Amino acid sequence: MARKTIVSSSSVMIQFSNVKKVYPGGNVALQGVNLEIGRGEFVFVLGHSGAGKSTFLKLILREEVATSGKVVVGGRDLSKIRRKDIPYLRRGLGVVFQDFRLIPSMNAFENVAFAMRVTNIPEKEIKKRVPYVLNLVGLAGKARSLPDELSGGEQQRVALARALVHSPPIIIADEPTGNIDPELSVEIMELLKAINMVGTTVVVVTHEHELAQRFSERIITIDHGNVVADDMQIGGEAF
Ligand code: ADP
Repeated sequence: MARKTIVSSSSVMIQFSNVKKVYPGGNVALQGVNLEIGRGEFVFVLGHSGAGKSTFLKLILREEVATSGKVVVGGRDLSKIRRKDIPYLRRGLGVVFQDFRLIPSMNAFENVAFAMRVTNIPEKEIKKRVPYVLNLVGLAGKARSLPDELSGGEQQRVALARALVHSPPIIIADEPTGNIDPELSVEIMELLKAINMVGTTVVVVTHEHELAQRFSERIITIDHGNVVADDMQIGGEAF
């Protein structure tokens, strides 16, 4: 299968150039990482616990800063980004966290709406957009349910709806199968693929070798802070 990547300089969404991250105390989490993720790609970032996956994610979100090297996201050099611009960076990155991070006292609608309210989007637009994204993830009938009235898979879909609310060019799913039943993992992967098919760059961070290998997609493998493989998986299922 031909690589469907378009990696020209203008279409690079995430770029790491010789990135090193050393935490205070001397823990080396990433060392000399070079990679490019192009617009519209679907990429797995695979690695064991402690490999450096969360650090990779935190550098993209600018929750951490590289010790050396360059991280560029959506054309912005994150070592030069101003503090006041960080929320704008994050708005362009839809992240589905492993623990979903839903607000327990808010129903599905409110959890998604909240992500829009904090950015001062008019109420009229919220009332249109939230049902649209809930429908997109198959949760139209659960808008009024609280997180603890939803299954793990449904909670994850609320988190995905919230990540999609600003139509971000990049969606990052952190261990998407970590907290849901195995049979639901295919469902969430199919949703991510559908989102990818309409042009969104999707990055799935996982320690699950089998998940990454099941699909014919690009797999970037990190081990001990190094990219040790970056291949198109051949022989997996085409989505
Ligand atoms: P993964 O997400 O793949 O499990 P991490 O990026 O969390 O990997 O961790 C990579 C390495 O960095 C590990 O050795 C870990 O102990 C270390 N590390 C991660 N976060 C911190 C931190 N805040 N302070 C010190 N060391 C850290």
